[in-house]
Parts: sequence; structure tokens; C-alpha cells
Amino acid sequence: MIEVDEARSFVLERLTPLPSVRVTLEEGLGCVASEPIVATEPVPGFRNSSMDGYAVRAADTANGPVRLRVVGTVLAGDVPERRLEAGEAIRIMTGAPIPDGADAVCMIEETTDDPSDHSVLISRVLEEGQFVRFPGDDVAVGQVLIATGSVVTGAQIGVLAGQGLSSISVHRRPRVGVLSTGDELASSGEALAKGKIRDSNRPMLLALLRESGFTPIDLGIACDDIDDITARLSQGVIECDAVIATGGVSVGDVDFVKSVLADICEGTARWMQVAMRPGKPFAFGNAGHGSTPVFGLPGNPVSTRVSFEMFVRPALRRLAGHRMLERTTINMVLDCPLARKPDGKLHLVHVDSRIHPDGRMHIESASRHGSHLLSAVAKANALAMIPDGDGFEPGDIVRTLLLDDEANN
Ligand code: AMP
Ligand code: MG
Repeated sequence: MIEVDEARSFVLERLTPLPSVRVTLEEGLGCVASEPIVATEPVPGFRNSSMDGYAVRAADTANGPVRLRVVGTVLAGDVPERRLEAGEAIRIMTGAPIPDGADAVCMIEETTDDPSDHSVLISRVLEEGQFVRFPGDDVAVGQVLIATGSVVTGAQIGVLAGQGLSSISVHRRPRVGVLSTGDELASSGEALAKGKIRDSNRPMLLALLRESGFTPIDLGIACDDIDDITARLSQGVIECDAVIATGGVSVGDVDFVKSVLADICEGTARWMQVAMRPGKPFAFGNAGHGSTPVFGLPGNPVSTRVSFEMFVRPALRRLAGHRMLERTTINMVLDCPLARKPDGKLHLVHVDSRIHPDGRMHIESASRHGSHLLSAVAKANALAMIPDGDGFEPGDIVRTLLLDDEANN
């Protein structure tokens, strides 16, 4: 058996980020920037009002309430028709350019207008620059808006659009093929003949891939047959940036995925017995002249899920150009006993985590455990990492990986 870290390093060392592509801002959401974006336009581009009110000269208000002559109106999108002179006010709406000569805005709530003589009473003393937005306040020319390696967020798309940009260079979003293997598997919709089971892994992985920001590609179900597995995996290697197969990597009579991997990966594949539970058998290699990573995960659905989290997701994040590959892990307080016997393995236990009134994260085991009991753990939001030993008691602290850490997307 090898340690989890060794297996993970073996995979990560054999991957590099995918090449850069230019995509629309919308397509770039969640991708990783492959070059910095520097501002070429100041935002705001011109002095404008941050309030609905009156543009004035601050000096005119220095002695307290003052009545000024209203000489025009300027709306957002307008160009002021004239300069503002001493003793004058121009009605102005939020976002409208400040007329030359004006240097402050009085908000409408602090004015009383008198339409009969086109005047307005400014009720307060204003400071120069009050309620004026200045060019470059938000974005200065030359400012780095997105650094290489940062994840493009919705708000950043707003900033880029504010520069008039419509596309961005990002690492290509990995296209990831998913193949289920096993003579026992029936596709959804198909009648379930005796001895057959439904395929849970492929729909689950396709969905987990999408949740993690990758593009899932369905490669279907292969029989426990070397030629069928070889053909489907080879097709996946041509079409995709990475391929995941489930089932057939253990020591059973028809566990052919590991030998197919050895074949299509031209000697680069490694079959591992990882010191973790579930998910002990794991295979990885690079096919397609070394360029396409192929993962062989165990078929039990809980094992598939755990192996995906421990090995596949970090690896795919590297392909996508992410700097942070791992999920957030936090030391959490155990609310129930977690039994285990020494067996040299890291146990990964699905748990429910929540913020306790004491301000710390607490965890409780998600009902029954067994690598085939997917429904029992499907709602869990975290994986407790139980080191080798005799188990834990309530109140003990356990390192726990958050399965829904949105901040680290
Ligand atoms: P294997 O890794 O091929 O030995 O499969 C281990 C267990 O997982 C067996 O009970 C299989 O029937 C089951 N299994 C394999 N693939 C799937 C799948 N795609 N969906 C649900 N269960 C599966
Ligand atoms: Mg099988």
C-alpha cells in the first residue's frame, strides 16, 4: 500500500494546465485567467454625480443656507449645455456629468426648489468634491484587474465589461469523459434483468464534474471485455482532456480496466493500492502520447465518490489552471463516536458538518457506512479524515474536508 499523498503526487506531477483559449466573458465564468488584464480606460471616465440633486459651487454654500438660480438640468447620458457660474445651480441626476464650474452636489433631500422663480434653496454647507465621483476612482488606467491564475467571478466579469472587453484568455475548461464498466450495468430506462444493477457512477460523476466547473462527456457503459473497454477509453482519449473509468480496477477475475490502462498508456500507467478506505484500488496513466490523463476508480459508488474527491478533482483543477487544488479542510469537533480499528489506512467518513452555537464547526457521522451504501452518505457535506488508530470520541478534533466549499471553487 502507498500513502494517499504519494498517490496524489504521482498524479499531479504528471499534469500541466491546458493551453490558453480566448472565450467570451460569459464562457469565462469560473475559468482561470491565463494572462493578466490591465485597465486601459479609467472608471468612472468623467466627473459625475453620485446623487440626484443640484450641482453647485461649494464656495457658494460656505455661509449656510443659500438660494441659487437654477439654470438647467443634466441627466445621465447628457452633456451639460453650459458652464456653471457663481450663484447658480444645475439640477443633476445620478451618473450625469458634473458641469464645468461646479465642484459639489447637494442631494435633493437637502434642497427646496421654487419653480415660480427658477430658484433652489440649498440647506447645507457643502465641501468641494461632495457627492462627486472622480475619473479613475474605481479603476485607474494601468491597474491589474485580473492576475494570471485567478478565477473569473461574476463580479470580475462586471469589471471587465466596464472596460469594454467582451472576451478573455483563460485556460481551457477541461472536457472530461466518464465511462462505466461492468457486465452487470443497465442503462437508465432499460428494464432491469435478473442480476443487473443500475449505473449510478456515470450520472454521479457527470454531475460532480459539472458542479466543479468542468465539461462532462458521457462515454457510456463498457462490458467487462478488454476490446470494448479499450475502444471506448481510446475514443475518450481522442475526444477529451481527461478520462475517468469506474469499475474493473481491483483484483477480480474480470477487472480489465487496469490492464487496458497499462496498454493504452504505453507503460506510463500505475496501478496503486492506496492506504485509504474506501477507495483502495486506483489506477492512473497518461494516454494519447502522454497528453491525456486517464483515471481508473473502483466501482463501488461511495469509493468512486471518495476517489474522485481525493485524486480526480485536484488533478482536473490543475488542468484547468487553478492554483488552489484542494478543498478547504478544517479541524472540526466530533459530536459522536467514530469507531475504527488500526489497519494502516486513512478512513474517509462522510459526515454532516454545521456551525455550532459555540462558533466552531461540528460534525456528525452520516448514518451507516459501507462502500456500496451511497444513499446513506449522499446528503453528507463533508469527509472526515480519520487517521489510523483506535477511533475517536465525542469532543475529539478531526480534520475534515468540506465537500461544498463554494469559496474555493
Ligand atoms: P468493481 O470495482 O468493478 O469490482 O465493482 C465493485 C462494485 O461496484 C460491484 O458491486 C459493482 O456491481 C459495483 N459497481 C460497479 N460499477 C458501478 C456503477 N457504475 N454503478 C453502480 N455500481 C457499480
Ligand atoms: Mg466490475
